[in-house]
Amino acid sequence: MSFCAWKKGEKYRDHFDHGIYVCSKCDHPLFSSETKYTHDSPWPAFTSTLREDSVAKREEKPGALKVTCGSCGNGLGHEFIGDGPKGKSRF
Ligand SMILES: [Zn+2]
Repeated sequence: MSFCAWKKGEKYRDHFDHGIYVCSKCDHPLFSSETKYTHDSPWPAFTSTLREDSVAKREEKPGALKVTCGSCGNGLGHEFIGDGPKGKSRF
């Protein structure tokens, strides 16, 4: 099953069905439900991307990378290094 709604992230914040989260513009696979967890922000949060090349990253400021779709460049928010559970990243 895949969920096509990063842009409508609020809808998926408390959504925990198993599946793959894909880009809302091009259907590129981005995140797995296995790395999803609940965070205080209104957005769904993940500790890692599906694959290393699922997304493109660009340093925006120390500890925060701008994350875009690895296929079409659609904006996906940020990776906050070390801000996730057990010192993992938060996407
Ligand atoms: Zn895309």
